[in-house]
Amino acid sequence: MGVDVRNVIIVGSGPAGYTAGLYSARALLEPLMFAGYMSGGQLMLTSDVENFPGYPKGIGGPEMMIDMREQAERFGLEIQDKNVERVDLTKRPFTVWVEGEEYRSQSLIICTGAEAIWLGADGEDDQKGRGISTCATCDGAFFKDEEIIVVGGGDSAMEEATFLTRFASKVTIIHRRDVFRASKVMYERAADHPKIEIKTHRQVKSWIAGENGLEGAILEDPRDRKIEEINCTGAFIAIGHKPITAFLEGQLETDDSGYILPQEHTMTSVPGVFAAGDVVDTRYRQAITAAGMGCQAAIDAERWLEDQH
Ligand code: NAP
Repeated sequence: MGVDVRNVIIVGSGPAGYTAGLYSARALLEPLMFAGYMSGGQLMLTSDVENFPGYPKGIGGPEMMIDMREQAERFGLEIQDKNVERVDLTKRPFTVWVEGEEYRSQSLIICTGAEAIWLGADGEDDQKGRGISTCATCDGAFFKDEEIIVVGGGDSAMEEATFLTRFASKVTIIHRRDVFRASKVMYERAADHPKIEIKTHRQVKSWIAGENGLEGAILEDPRDRKIEEINCTGAFIAIGHKPITAFLEGQLETDDSGYILPQEHTMTSVPGVFAAGDVVDTRYRQAITAAGMGCQAAIDAERWLEDQH
């Protein structure tokens, strides 16, 4: 028996996915979304969102994602909280496998996002959201006049450290080598800042938990295993992000880090497959930019589907 062919299947449920869902539902494309087992994406891990226009008092990340979901559902977005395991993009309609079931669609919008790479030091899981974060833009303001560390030696670490000086009394960058991947200009901006200290040849070995959250970290010098303790009530891990694309099994063109490379507007290397949000974005990585791209992808998909008739 044949499987129904959908117009649009959306994979992923962050701001990009829900906005793509909202727009394609309003375009009467009857979209189906596979939201993943943990729907809502990275914003589900964020406390207050204060930089999404329209919320003068801010809004909780999870609350905002629930609202986005409700808004898209109101116009008919069908959502299944399941993970896509595999896709076949070699012929149209495309095939999507979810929990052993097969779905077909004329177009796909990939919005699976990216996940921050965590350090995995001892005690880290317990301190996530209690002082340890991977997003300075999201959480920096909670550390006013506190001592913070930033882990990493790339542009992200320099940028986050410099940004965090707005709030923190002191920011210490912890880097495992004395050579920095960061561009010279970003390194110097951080290194020259009076509130920033840089400690090289240090790895976070474990986190020190207090009653009210993070209190510090145990650092180790990888050269001689010498141990030292640092006080901090906030820690930002900036050792890179990885896009969530394993289920695509290399069927779309990506850059060397695995980010999907759009070819024309939001369309990927496979016509009919569109991508939006952090899964393509190495630069902005904001909820508002992801939502904007989700809108673009839905409009691109709608126009592309029209052109197929
Ligand atoms: P990155 O350039 O890959 O740097 C990652 C850093 O984390 C490196 O210093 C690396 O150390 C360190 N690291 C990785 N794994 C680690 C571990 N397990 N323990 C301790 N340290 C670890 O990543 P990024 O800084 O996120 O930048 C990604 C891309 O975005 C880059 O192309 C960057 O230029 C770009 N970006 C641009 C801007 C901007 O222009 N405004 C801002 C942010 C990012 P090693 O050096 O020892 O490997």
